[in-house]
Amino acid sequence: MSSNLLLGIDLGGTKTLLALADEQGTPIASKRFPTTLSDSVTKDLAKLKTETAGFLSEQAVETSQLLQIGISAPGPLDPDTGVLFSAPNLPGWRDVPLQSFFEENFSVATRLENDANAAALAEWQFGAGRGTRSMVYLTMSTGIGGGLILNGKLFRGEACSAGELGHVPVEWDGEACNCGQRGCLEAYIGGAAWQKRLRRVTPSDSQVTRLAGSSDRIQPEHAVQAAREGDVFALAEMDRFNRYLSRAIVGLVFSLAPERIVLGTIAVAAGEALCFEPVRKLVAERIWPSTQEHLQIIPAALGQELAQRAGVCVALDALQDRL
Ligand SMILES: [Zn+2]
Repeated sequence: MSSNLLLGIDLGGTKTLLALADEQGTPIASKRFPTTLSDSVTKDLAKLKTETAGFLSEQAVETSQLLQIGISAPGPLDPDTGVLFSAPNLPGWRDVPLQSFFEENFSVATRLENDANAAALAEWQFGAGRGTRSMVYLTMSTGIGGGLILNGKLFRGEACSAGELGHVPVEWDGEACNCGQRGCLEAYIGGAAWQKRLRRVTPSDSQVTRLAGSSDRIQPEHAVQAAREGDVFALAEMDRFNRYLSRAIVGLVFSLAPERIVLGTIAVAAGEALCFEPVRKLVAERIWPSTQEHLQIIPAALGQELAQRAGVCVALDALQDRL
């Protein structure tokens, strides 16, 4: 096998994915294993090391064949020092020096990046953002993640805090957000916030409740499905979702004038008729025609493939910085 390989690691709360790729980022092999957190970070890291070493030996790859390791992890973290400060899905993980852990154990340069930025890099290089110089990535899962590609480069901002698009205010004195602020986009259409709202306000005779089985089981996907079936309440919820999303997008368009805005997860699940068409229309009503001409708002393309690409794209990005 070639000696110019990249190793991507997608660190998740339940599963971790290891992916081997060539220096263009073309996938070669991957392996998924349960993250299964123990009572100590030391043990968790030891497992991560064993799994990684095992994967490399299964692939008959020596660490000397690796050019770069890239890790995608839920933040907050510092890509400069490679320390993961904390992660909601990795309880007990505090100030974990992931970069130095891998560099010391495998003697390979390692870059740590937050999962939203890693996803933005992956969509830009292999998915819906391919071929663009500027792209905004926005994903609505439990929270809202964002990533900015500007002038052909991931934009990190001061203290690597750019791209926190879930905390753009969409109501000045609005709903309380988990971040401690008020009125953030995430407090309106983030999966967790929307789920909480749906369980509170969905009428018991709505199709949303029927699909979920009971009101305490409602998930945003039930609202999306019920809207597809024409349920009036669910359609109003989708309209609310699209309106808040559009408010944030309008701000982004005026600030950055990106070629593409790539929307993931809930937007992809909702699709053209329920999300993309209305959002394009709402955004067009509030921006200038000259800006509108150059703007595309499209669904993320990688889907299940994202986990395999995320860590590898972090490695690719780090490699480009070194060259
Ligand atoms: Zn917030």
